[in-house]
Amino acid sequence: MTVLADSQAGGAQAAGARTAAHARLMAEHSAHNYHPLPVVIAGGQGAWVTDVEGRRYLDFLAGYSALNFGHRHPALTAAAHRQLDRVTLTSRAFGNDQLGPFCTELAALVGKQMVLPMNTGAEAVESGLKVARKWGYDVKGVPADRARVVVAAEAFHGRTISVVSFSTDPEARGGFGPFTPGFDVVPYGDAPALRAAITPETVAVLLEPIQGEAGVIVPPAGYLAEVREICTASNALYVSDEVQAGLGRTGHVLATRAAGVDADVYLLGKALGGGIMPVSAVVADADVLGVLKPGQHGSTFGGNPLACAVGRAVVELLEEGSLLEHTRAMGEILHEGLRELVGHGATAVRGTGLWAGVDVDPAIGTGREICERLARGVDAAVGVLAKDTHGPTVRLSPPLVITEAEIRAGLAALRTALR
Ligand SMILES: *Cc1c(COP(=O)(O)O)cnc(C)c1O
Repeated sequence: MTVLADSQAGGAQAAGARTAAHARLMAEHSAHNYHPLPVVIAGGQGAWVTDVEGRRYLDFLAGYSALNFGHRHPALTAAAHRQLDRVTLTSRAFGNDQLGPFCTELAALVGKQMVLPMNTGAEAVESGLKVARKWGYDVKGVPADRARVVVAAEAFHGRTISVVSFSTDPEARGGFGPFTPGFDVVPYGDAPALRAAITPETVAVLLEPIQGEAGVIVPPAGYLAEVREICTASNALYVSDEVQAGLGRTGHVLATRAAGVDADVYLLGKALGGGIMPVSAVVADADVLGVLKPGQHGSTFGGNPLACAVGRAVVELLEEGSLLEHTRAMGEILHEGLRELVGHGATAVRGTGLWAGVDVDPAIGTGREICERLARGVDAAVGVLAKDTHGPTVRLSPPLVITEAEIRAGLAALRTALR
């Protein structure tokens, strides 16, 4: 394992000339919709990245789970290379020889009948909402334009106008109205509140099985089963946004299923593109996805052969199972180490699998400050990349291919950063 010596680490106070030059370009010409840590990445392999100064870091964010298989997983880059040399884009005006196999294989992995391929996570959410509304009118018999969807407070489902319309984050909504109507927000994890919000016009309940951006919030035991029961009793679709939770992050293909519950509609994204390109999907049975008829929904890039070839390789990696087993084992080690930090710079830790939220003691610093310390690697053996969320929380989501030694190195760095 390469270690980052103190002399190399530099840190924000001497970020390095190349890093500073890139920061200037981004400041002048890249929209300021993010506030990145002062690290400019130039290469990646597995759980490691290298920045423009030649410093190496352990990647404990993994693209918010888009890089579940690590950087440039050989099976995934090989699938992409093979497809690059055949055909990359056809549009849906024609078929392509990757689309049918991809949808068949992904549907089988998820245990549903059909797949609607899209590109980004937000598009999967938008598409899921459109399918739910259409199903509500065509199948449930809700009067035209009356459909309602129940969602959770503190949720994150993406950045489009309709999706931020039901966000409870003032930053995500402020200045973007007027908003799309038809959403009812209830507290996450509160089954009685959800039950009370259901009306005859409710067509769907949209929830993350674990709230990622909110700080890796795991709902109370039994909550998802109650959601299922409420949806079934009220003839509403249970739409599970597994864009971040799904495809291995928790050590399972689906976090909802791991809780012993089956939703009607699964929304997938992030890791489905293997860290190579945006690939997302709505996955459901034919009685739900079958409501879409030609011309009613679409995407120029959705289901393109390159995306499908990469997606097929992702499905194959998950289907094989050993990576999920590895994730569960590594998750145990991660959480065991994190629990020891409570009372030593952390006030609480949460999560499951290779996914954790660490609440930083405000006396030690903010989540952002801890992430800056982790990246600098000062006084620690290794620089670690992680990202704060909602002020005090540091979110950890290392690639599933991470080794025990790498997890222990990350834990040691976190222990130091929290001192
Ligand atoms: C990231 C995320 C999205 C949005 O995905 P994008 O690809 O950024 O549009 C939607 N839902 C959840 C739960 C996410 O974590």
